[in-house]
Amino acid sequence: METKKRIGILTSGGDAPGMNAVIRAVTRSAIRKGFEVLGIRRGWNGLINGDVIQLTERSVSDIIQRGGTMLYTARCPEFRYEEGLQTAKQNCIKNNLAGIVVIGGDGTFRGAADLSARGIPCVGLPGTIDNDISCTEYTIGYDTAMNTAMEMVDKLRDTSQSHDRCSVVEVMGRNAGYIALNAGIAVGATYIITTEVPYSLDDVAAKILKAKETGKQHFIIMVSEGVGNAEGIAKEIEKRTGVESRATILGHVQRGGSPTVRDRVVASQMGYYAVELLERGIGNRVVGMQNSKIVDFDIQEALSMKKPFELDLYNIANELSF
Ligand code: ATP
Repeated sequence: METKKRIGILTSGGDAPGMNAVIRAVTRSAIRKGFEVLGIRRGWNGLINGDVIQLTERSVSDIIQRGGTMLYTARCPEFRYEEGLQTAKQNCIKNNLAGIVVIGGDGTFRGAADLSARGIPCVGLPGTIDNDISCTEYTIGYDTAMNTAMEMVDKLRDTSQSHDRCSVVEVMGRNAGYIALNAGIAVGATYIITTEVPYSLDDVAAKILKAKETGKQHFIIMVSEGVGNAEGIAKEIEKRTGVESRATILGHVQRGGSPTVRDRVVASQMGYYAVELLERGIGNRVVGMQNSKIVDFDIQEALSMKKPFELDLYNIANELSF
């Protein structure tokens, strides 16, 4: 008996809320189109060592609202070498895979390009809380992470307000300050420090002192992970302003939680779109969002694109915080 064509799905790189919503969307839309669906576990590893599970309409029930990824995620160093790629390719052929949807970041897409070049069509979807993927104005998980950061800083604000303190908060974003910028505006941060915009601690201190003159007694300084050193920044601020300052690193709490409406909707749209590409036999593509529309790019082109920082937004934040 001839086995049905299958579509594979895997999550790779750092996890992000909304990955489960993608798994659901890909599974259900592929089944509708007559495919079977294989869930590949722990990123590219599952493709190399055959750790796969069949996904059905019902096995992806009750996950749209859950953070994390039911397929687990992991790095896979072997996938960078020909031997690993060939093993993965043979497993795809053995499993009758017509194509694979991969959710992750730039590294994951490089792997997808390598496997596509060896005859297995792969479509990448941007899944990372940092929004640091250049070909798309939006990455799955970003909205949830910003909202989590905002809620956490709102809580910190209560205590820093009660004690007339300055809270220096480090939020995630190794390569990009988008969470710091947007959550910073949303919490009314006095200063937002990211790698994209030059800053000086003298300037930060001067802004705090000026606001203090008008009666402001507590301050929030947002720092992106790429800048780091929240403890050191807090010490310097205290030394320069006399305002008691504490550092808080929000960390991995920002990667978890139930995805927001936006993340669930975009995950569903992108998952559906990816299956449409694979149905037409099209691989080596990354799906993204441009001007609020879902679009796709050649993977190499996607990896070479540049994304401008939202300087206008940064300037607005600066104008409103004094
Ligand atoms: P995040 O931004 O969340 O860390 P990412 O997808 O960029 O996500 P990486 O750790 O860079 O995360 O890559 C994930 C996996 O993709 C790697 O473990 C590896 O299996 C594969 N990969 C990364 N770079 C390459 C490459 N140049 N060629 C083939 N595979 C790669």
